[in-house]
Amino acid sequence: MKSTVVTFPSGLTSGRSTIAGIVPVGDRHGLVVAETPFHPLDHTWPDQPADRGTIGGLPVVDCVTGAQSNTGEVFLGADIPVRRGAEGWAWLVVHVSEEPLPEGAEADLAVDPAYRAALSAGHTACHLAALALNAALAGRWRKEVRPDSLGRPDFDQAAITSSRIVPGGSVDVYRLGKSLRKKGFSAEDLDPAEVAGQVNERLQAWVAAGAPVRLEVPGPELTARRTWHCALPEGEASIPCGGTHVSRTSELAGVEVSLAYAPEESALTMRTTVHARVR
Ligand SMILES: [Zn+2]
Repeated sequence: MKSTVVTFPSGLTSGRSTIAGIVPVGDRHGLVVAETPFHPLDHTWPDQPADRGTIGGLPVVDCVTGAQSNTGEVFLGADIPVRRGAEGWAWLVVHVSEEPLPEGAEADLAVDPAYRAALSAGHTACHLAALALNAALAGRWRKEVRPDSLGRPDFDQAAITSSRIVPGGSVDVYRLGKSLRKKGFSAEDLDPAEVAGQVNERLQAWVAAGAPVRLEVPGPELTARRTWHCALPEGEASIPCGGTHVSRTSELAGVEVSLAYAPEESALTMRTTVHARVR
């Protein structure tokens, strides 16, 4: 099989393609097509959940990343033994179905647009919240640290342990342990409510600005290294990203975070909520 061409980066939720192959997924059938609008769960950084929808009229019960080696063997999700996009492998969007479809058949692909829109809103909000958190914590760094695209110490990249996009929001967990302290970050007297207040003030301004959001797409295949861009009033923000997004921050209508700090676990959890979803 060839690497799947994906159309979700340009916002598409429907398409028509040919069944290029079928791989077993437990008792289910993993349908692979030449080109799809479906966003699968990424196997290395599983932040945005798989799209929902139908293929050839059949429900897509899950959508995962597959990788086929040059010997023809297909690995799925966490079993993929090589890094994302490794050369010599075909990178596949695997639509999991209870029923098979015949290889070579044409099939309509339809993504649930409301669920996608809610995930896109959550994902854009997640990136904006990360940048606003970097700004709110910038004064806590005592050593030089890699800056984010807006020139602030990149707390998000230095400390994040997991990021989960949910419909209309996200949950990001950061670790404020010894290794972050060694990099120069001080969590002393950290008041989560105060930091959240600063983050929310900035988010309000960014949403009000109606900043355009776009994805830079260097190639049509699943594992192309795409980059999220947002033209914020204070500069052009960019973050490497494999997911989907709204096209303007004003589509979010409102974004708010809450922060919870558990010092005994050295964990800072940021919950981001989009108040009104995309119409
Ligand atoms: Zn992203």
